[in-house]
Amino acid sequence: MEKNKYGHVAVFIQQHNSKIEAVSLELLGRATELAKELDTKVSAYLPCEKAGEMTKALFSYGADYVYTIENKELKDFRSLPYTKAVVEAVKKDAPCIVLFGATRTGRDLAPRVASTIRSGLTADCTELKIGSYTDNKAGKTYEKLLYQIRPAFGGNIIATIINPEWHPQMATVREGVMKMREPNTSRKGEVIPINVTFSDVDLAVKIIDKVIKEKKVNLTGANIVVAGGMGVGSKDCFCKINEFAKIINAEVGASRAAVDQGWVSKEHQVGQTGVTVRPKLYIACGISGSVQHKAGMDQALKIIAINSDPEAPIFKFAHVKIVGDLNTVIPMMIEAYKKIDVSKK
Ligand SMILES: Cc1cc2nc3c(=O)[nH]c(=O)nc-3n(C[C@H](O)[C@H](O)[C@H](O)COP(=O)(O)OP(=O)(O)OC[C@H]3O[C@@H](n4cnc5c(N)ncnc54)[C@H](O)[C@@H]3O)c2cc1C
Repeated sequence: MEKNKYGHVAVFIQQHNSKIEAVSLELLGRATELAKELDTKVSAYLPCEKAGEMTKALFSYGADYVYTIENKELKDFRSLPYTKAVVEAVKKDAPCIVLFGATRTGRDLAPRVASTIRSGLTADCTELKIGSYTDNKAGKTYEKLLYQIRPAFGGNIIATIINPEWHPQMATVREGVMKMREPNTSRKGEVIPINVTFSDVDLAVKIIDKVIKEKKVNLTGANIVVAGGMGVGSKDCFCKINEFAKIINAEVGASRAAVDQGWVSKEHQVGQTGVTVRPKLYIACGISGSVQHKAGMDQALKIIAINSDPEAPIFKFAHVKIVGDLNTVIPMMIEAYKKIDVSKK
């Protein structure tokens, strides 16, 4: 295996029934860019029962090395066996960076791995960059560190966090924050199998039954999102947002304020403490555009904002600005849409 002074950029691969979670593929894309800057390669750590075709998929999304940790005890996620599996991969690979999806699994696993290997961890990063840092007191410059960037203090500042001394540098990133790149099926790589054995203590938790709740809202995969905020005014009025979304085949999003009012359920919340979306079109209705909301939607290809206040912060980053009462504007948009002859499109 090719060695580099910076070590590889590694991604923990989360899979369920041999289906790789989107966030892991998104992270492989970002890992590829980071690895390029560090002149190193990308590793994927795949704990599972059987790797099968998953390795090919991982190469096509940017992995150069796939560390397969196959064991029947790794069929479903359990904290201790998975921690052991990923720690073994880290020990063998000696990466400079390890990334995890900020999913329920990643949020459980990443801190356990970090504390086992005595490394730092930044949760919920919204950006990852490579940069240097000079410690003026010590008169020392650290080159090519991972800048782990995330909102802090309630989103009022954007903090850049670094681990100059303790490596690997570790971070979790939520689904949708990084852009998934197109797979290249001709890419090839190396599979590196790792054996792990588990003690009775590792396997103390037994899975007796599995209850899988179907996801009803698919904001991350939506091409169009129509989102409502406090400006919608009431739960009854929020029906207009639902109706508008249905007509234009969009998913319904919301600001936290609208969710807190009980007008719409939490799974619709977009933003720092909700979902991060990257649709082709985001229509924000009666949303002021707080930093916390912006964090979850400013990567949309086109943003249309409808707001009665011409000074609303959302107009600073919306591509199309409609100053007006949403109760007037939305019905006009619905009427206009209905008149479009879709057959000519
Ligand atoms: C730690 C932390 C995490 C947070 N996480 C999130 C998050 O994930 N997502 C999120 O959204 N927020 C989040 N927030 C809350 C955030 O700070 C804002 O309070 C929230 O986004 C405001 O929601 P809003 O824009 O709907 O409401 P407001 O800020 O009250 O804005 C309502 C807007 O509607 C306009 N309006 C009013 N009437 C009409 C009308 N008839 N027609 C058109 N426009 C109208 C007003 O001009 C105004 O701009 C978080 C806050 C904290 C502290």
